[in-house]
Amino acid sequence: MKTPGATNFRMLPRSHSGNRRSRRACRNRYALQGENRNKSTDPTGLEGKGPLEMAAYYFYPKNFSAWPTASGELSSAWGNRKEPTAGTGDFHSGIDIAVPNGTEVRALDDGRVSQVADHPQYGKTVVIDYESGLVSAEMHNSSISVKVGDTVVTGEEVAQSGSTGAWTTGGHSHTSVWDSASKVPDFTKDSSLIVTRDTVDPSRLLPPIPNSYSVGSGVKLNKAGNYVNN
Ligand SMILES: [Zn+2]
Repeated sequence: MKTPGATNFRMLPRSHSGNRRSRRACRNRYALQGENRNKSTDPTGLEGKGPLEMAAYYFYPKNFSAWPTASGELSSAWGNRKEPTAGTGDFHSGIDIAVPNGTEVRALDDGRVSQVADHPQYGKTVVIDYESGLVSAEMHNSSISVKVGDTVVTGEEVAQSGSTGAWTTGGHSHTSVWDSASKVPDFTKDSSLIVTRDTVDPSRLLPPIPNSYSVGSGVKLNKAGNYVNN
């Protein structure tokens, strides 16, 4: 296929709040991603696709519009941890927000639900494929509020937080992020999967931390503005 970098697209970046694409475009994108899952030779899934799909993949800014809960304490950052919860090793594949059980967990952007699972380790998990191409998994919930195929908009409730699965010591919301749907493990089929460094640091993609949040003692801000574990 043509090298996307050599093409001459001039696309305006999508802002956090506006300039949404149509539902039709959205559905087309998900159809594309569905095909991608079966192709191991082309991780981008762009093989044979047209210039607009390529432009969308490479030039839309990849970020989120909202945090997963309205408030809470950012209790663990993505990356290495000194004091891991038993069984998780020293790498944390997402961010944790300490919240009471039953707190509304929301979509980070406009997208579509691609997995709903009750996983032995990660608990009640909902995976959302976003229009940007990013994917999130919200884990350890007490219940899931949506079903596979549902379209969701920024801030819409997708789950209620909990402490289900293993490796969890209290009520919190865990969010892991991938930059491509083809990298996301199948939580419905693989009961022994471990979410790994394949994930992306959510603090690089989320908006600035809301005023309604507090930051726990185990987390600090580094020079780049990302949250890291102490
Ligand atoms: Zn976590």
